[in-house]
Amino acid sequence: MKILVINCGSTTLKYQLIDSETEEVFAKGLCERIGIADADIAYTVMATGEKKEKKIDMPDHSVAFQAVIDVLLDPVDGAVKSLDEIDAVGHRVVHGGEYFNSSVVIDDDVIEKIKACSDLAPLHNPANLLGIEACSKLMPGVPQCAVFDTAFHQTMPEKAYIYGIPFSYYEKYKIRRYGFHGTSHSFVSKRAIEILGKPVEESKVIVCHLGGGASITAVDGGKSVDTSMGFTPLDGLIMGTRSGSVDPAILQYIAEKENMDVNGLLNLLNKKSGVQGLSGISSDFRDIDAGIAEGNPRAKLAFDSFCYSAIKLIGGYVAAMNGVDLIAFTAGIGENDAKVRATVLKNFGYLGITLDEEVNNATHGKEAMISTADSKVKAYVIPTNEELAIARDTAHLVK
Ligand code: ADP
Repeated sequence: MKILVINCGSTTLKYQLIDSETEEVFAKGLCERIGIADADIAYTVMATGEKKEKKIDMPDHSVAFQAVIDVLLDPVDGAVKSLDEIDAVGHRVVHGGEYFNSSVVIDDDVIEKIKACSDLAPLHNPANLLGIEACSKLMPGVPQCAVFDTAFHQTMPEKAYIYGIPFSYYEKYKIRRYGFHGTSHSFVSKRAIEILGKPVEESKVIVCHLGGGASITAVDGGKSVDTSMGFTPLDGLIMGTRSGSVDPAILQYIAEKENMDVNGLLNLLNKKSGVQGLSGISSDFRDIDAGIAEGNPRAKLAFDSFCYSAIKLIGGYVAAMNGVDLIAFTAGIGENDAKVRATVLKNFGYLGITLDEEVNNATHGKEAMISTADSKVKAYVIPTNEELAIARDTAHLVK
C-alpha cells in the first residue's frame, strides 16, 4: 500500500510516501517556515537522488500541504500520477495521553481526544491537528490514521508511571510519566525480539534511542514497562540541549539568582542545557568527539556525563526487569557513535556482555551485533525508522 506519512511541527511539515510492504520510499521532503516569511519546500527526487527546493508563500499548513501535493503530482519530479494512488495517510501525533494505547483511524472522536491532550503537548498536538485538518480538506475521503509517540508506553505499570507527588494531581491533572519516542522504541524492540528468536513473553530488551532527544526504554515481554522520558520529553537522560532529570529545587535557586521566570527556566532546561550547556561547544556528538580529540576538557565532561546518565538508567532497567537479553542502540548517536556505545557497554561486563570492538567501530547506521558471539547478553545496533513504522501501522489499520 502507498502510505503518505506526515509529521507536522508548528512551522514545519515533513512527509514521506512509502510502500508499507516493500519499504520503498517514493518521495520525501520538508516544508519549513510555515506561517513565517521565506517559507520553502525541499524535497528529494527519489529516482535520481537530486535534491530540489522551491520558495512558496505558506501562510498556513493547508497551503504547505497543497505544496506537497503539487510536488507529488509534478509531471517531471512527481511520485504519483493521481492522488487516488495514495491509499491512506499516517500522521505522527505526539501526545495521546491515556486515551490511546495504539494507533487509530482518525474520526471526530479521535480529533476531540487529540485536542484534549493539547494541554499536555502545547507545542506539538495543535500542529499535528493542523496537518490532519489540511489533509481532510485537500484529500477528502482518504483514510487517515494517528500514530502516537506516547502509545507504546501505555503498558507501563502504575508504580513506574506515577510520580511521588500527591495522588490528587494525577487524578485532577493526569500528571504522570507518559514517555515519548514510542514509535521508535516499539519498532526497534520488535526487531530485537525477532533477532532473539525467543517467545515474545520471555524476551527482555532495553532500547537506547540516543539522538538529539534521547530516551531509554525497558521492554519486558514486548511491552514497555518503564521509560526515561516522563510527563514531558525533558525528563531522563542528559540530551543534546536538554538537561534531563535535575533536582527540581535547583529551579527556584536559579530563578532567584538570575531573576528568571518559569518560561525562562524551561527555556534554559530545554534549549541551553545538556551536552550543549556542559560543553559550551555544541549539542552535536560529532563536535563533542572532535572537541575531545583536541583535548577540550568540557567536551570530555559532556561526553562522560551523557554516557554515565545512560549507564545508570540501563542498570536500573536491568534491575527493574530482573534481567536483560539484548541491549539495542538506535537513532543518530546510537547508530553512529561507536565511542558512546563502547563507553556505555563497558559497565555491563558483569552481565556477560563483551564488546566486539572491531564490529562496533565499523558500525554506522546499519544493523549489527556489536557484542561477541559468546556474550551472554547481546548488544546490537538496530537503526530506527519511525516513518516506516507509521506507514506499517496505517496500512494495518486501513486494510
Ligand atoms: P533527532 O535530532 O531528531 O533526535 P537524530 O536521531 O538523527 O535526530 O540524532 C541527531 C544527533 O545524532 C546529532 O545531533 C548528533 O549528536 C548525532 N549524530 C549524528 N551523526 C553522528 C555521527 N556520525 N557520529 C556521532 N554522532 C552523530
